[in-house]
Amino acid sequence: MKHNISKLISLALLFSACNVSDSEISINKQEIDLSDFFVYTTADDSKNAKMTNTKDSRRNCYTMTNLNRLLDENPGLEQSMYAIEYQTRKYIASKKPSGTPGGGPNTDPNPTPEPDPVPYTGVITIPLVINIIEQYYGQVTDAQVESQIAILNEDFNNLNPNTSKKVPGEFANRVADFEITFSDNPTIIRKTSSKASWGTRDAMKSSKKGGIDATDPAHNLNIWVCQIGGGVLGYAQFPGGPSATDGVVIGIDYFGETSGPYGDGRTATHEVGHWLNLRHIWGDGGCSYDDFVQDTPTSDGPNYGCPIYPIVACGSNDMTMNYMDYVYDDCMFMFTIGQNERSRALFASDGYRSTFIDWTSN
Ligand SMILES: [Zn+2]
Repeated sequence: MKHNISKLISLALLFSACNVSDSEISINKQEIDLSDFFVYTTADDSKNAKMTNTKDSRRNCYTMTNLNRLLDENPGLEQSMYAIEYQTRKYIASKKPSGTPGGGPNTDPNPTPEPDPVPYTGVITIPLVINIIEQYYGQVTDAQVESQIAILNEDFNNLNPNTSKKVPGEFANRVADFEITFSDNPTIIRKTSSKASWGTRDAMKSSKKGGIDATDPAHNLNIWVCQIGGGVLGYAQFPGGPSATDGVVIGIDYFGETSGPYGDGRTATHEVGHWLNLRHIWGDGGCSYDDFVQDTPTSDGPNYGCPIYPIVACGSNDMTMNYMDYVYDDCMFMFTIGQNERSRALFASDGYRSTFIDWTSN
């Protein structure tokens, strides 16, 4: 309940900050419904877990628990995330065909004087800064770095070879090409440290704590590679969080081509998905919790291992092969069109990550 109250306050602040007339507010309220949005979670996957495989080596992403901590430490973050969600849903609504409810901005009989936000439709290039904290110089090889970038470029350009071979028929027309290129000429910053594990409180992102400070997160995706510990494969920060810690953290054993069920570099694909504002595909709760994506099925918990299709939950087949589930690296091989739209909203002219776009050449 506490969070519902703060949600209402956030919405009130959001709408009052928009400096629009009462009639426009009512239009916005009708068109953009944020009533199902949430930021805090219990982050307890175990109670909803569907065990389709052995209990060994379950994927463990710390992003939602990290979000709870960030929300507690940053009083403005909840409101920022609601504002980003509002912009995201407005962007998606504007993509609907004209004449449908919540349709395009040009159907508004009383357009606001401000120019409409501009979507970005081209290939997006994301420069990378790879911050490696290793126990000895070269522990993370250049080949590992190159393989990780190649995997990201495969997955975000619909080039994962498993996609065409293995996506079930009912999901085939939902497969998305994000058209995001990760620069294969990254800035690599290396630091050696004898620290055995860096934990999940962003110490690796701070030079004062022995880590490496972020480099210009408005124009680079910062990836920290280090020993996290606690069985955590990686974690990300959602759009809206503190700039100094914006980026993703990948466990050193799961970065690029390594070995084992999480040795194909898909922890980074999953975490970059969070950095692009994607939630876990099961919505981090039971059947009534959503991932805010229209074309992903409702589910009640993560899938582990390598599930055999179909896995039924909440009356539909789970999309276990989605990069935002918890399956083995080799068993995840698709994003959806709805997930792509959600991420693309960030790169519109009014989007949170619009600083990555060179608008002079658009
Ligand atoms: Zn995750």
